Amino acid sequence: MNRRTFLETMSAAAVLPALARQGPAANEWGSPVFDLHFHLRPEPASNLAHVDGAGIAKANLLTRAPALDRVKAMDAAAPGRFTWFSSYDVTRPDAEQVLTQAVKDGAQGFGELKFHVAADGPELRRLYALAAELKVPLLIHFQEVDHVPNEGTWSTGYARTFASILKEYPKTTFIGHADAFWANVSADYHDQSVYPTGRIVRGGVTDRWLGDYPNLYGDLSAVSGNTAMTRDADFTADFLTRHQDKLLFGSDCSCRDGHGAGYDNPVAPRMAGKCVARETLAALKRSASPAIFQKIAWGNAHKLVMI
Ligand SMILES: [Zn+2]
Ligand SMILES: [Zn+2]
Repeated sequence: MNRRTFLETMSAAAVLPALARQGPAANEWGSPVFDLHFHLRPEPASNLAHVDGAGIAKANLLTRAPALDRVKAMDAAAPGRFTWFSSYDVTRPDAEQVLTQAVKDGAQGFGELKFHVAADGPELRRLYALAAELKVPLLIHFQEVDHVPNEGTWSTGYARTFASILKEYPKTTFIGHADAFWANVSADYHDQSVYPTGRIVRGGVTDRWLGDYPNLYGDLSAVSGNTAMTRDADFTADFLTRHQDKLLFGSDCSCRDGHGAGYDNPVAPRMAGKCVARETLAALKRSASPAIFQKIAWGNAHKLVMI
């Protein structure tokens, strides 16, 4: 342990003894909850504020290398409550080397992979192959429409090209996420908006591919996942039943306290002041049986990571 890790660990231990000992609060969701999609925050206390506030037992920290010291500090502050994935700039020549080292250091997957490259381009292809070789899943952000002017698009071409990737890399476990992934549960999505609403037209590619390809999973995090699961109640109940073994709860929430403090997403005014984790857990609870809710909130994650 180097000096910086030691100091971070000590300061975390000093402010967090009660939280660390006590673990998750009595569970309000009727099942333990694992948050697959939780971006690592700078201080251990700020991470725990969100998971404890939202009633989440354990969370998967999405980090970008180098982050090992911060992951260790988090683990020291709350042993056993956090797993982690690592990301790294996929356009850099040393991406494979850095991500291989992260897995050796304990990262259980690649992610979040969110870069301005094509979903079937060479930068990501080499990581699809590496993830299969290292036997870790990868979490990827698909987005074709800007949230702010000139934001740029991410892992582009999903609806057009990703079936061929799923076929070409059968040993790679893909976890899909974000706007284009979730908008494409509806067959009428043609990149016309960020978060399409209204009745879903059956036969969207995401719905079909979750059924057709054993190596594709869906991460229900963020406003994109929330929107897809709240726009058409009949569809949602049916979708959660059909894909009950392929869906994973995640938050991707930036609120401070697990109750919505400070949440302000300019393209999703309906979510202002709300916690995405709580909103999506409540939607899943409304739409799924207790057994299916338990799989999505907790059980399915055990197939992909050691919790
Ligand atoms: Zn994302
Ligand atoms: Zn939140």
